[in-house]
Amino acid sequence: MRMSIQHFITYNTDETEQVGFSLATKLAPGAVVALFGDLGAGKTAFVRGLAKGLGVTKHVCSPTYALVHDYGKLIHFDMYRIAGPGDLESTGWYDYLYQTSVLAVEWSEHILKELPAEAVCVTITAGNNDNERRICIDYPGS
Ligand code: ADP
Ligand code: MG
Repeated sequence: MRMSIQHFITYNTDETEQVGFSLATKLAPGAVVALFGDLGAGKTAFVRGLAKGLGVTKHVCSPTYALVHDYGKLIHFDMYRIAGPGDLESTGWYDYLYQTSVLAVEWSEHILKELPAEAVCVTITAGNNDNERRICIDYPGS
């Protein structure tokens, strides 16, 4: 059973960041935030807000090339180019999973089988106009 699902509609990047920010207070240590959504959906914007909410002061940018950015309290992954367990291992995923940092995972579609059952799933989709986004946050059951 899923504990709860929240829906948001945002109309600019700041609002998406704010939704990410507000999620930070609800996360347990070691939580995995699995993000789903196309290129340009706003996943990185969401993670930027999440990072601020967790007290990360460094600027958060997309880990497209590095695959992972370690901000201490937050580990930010981009799984777009992950094709198998070897790739995933090279990001440190299997080690980070058992630590207390929050993991934010862009392109979670690419590692579905590796996501823990307790992952908080955040799906961002396009709305009715260019700057509108629908954000669904699905909290795991206990
Ligand atoms: P992703 O990481 O999903 O590829 P980014 O966060 O990098 O997406 O980029 C989102 C893009 O969409 C940015 O160019 C941003 O300005 C634009 N945008 C427009 N409206 C929104 C919104 N409501 N929320 C987030 N981003 C938005
Ligand atoms: Mg991104």
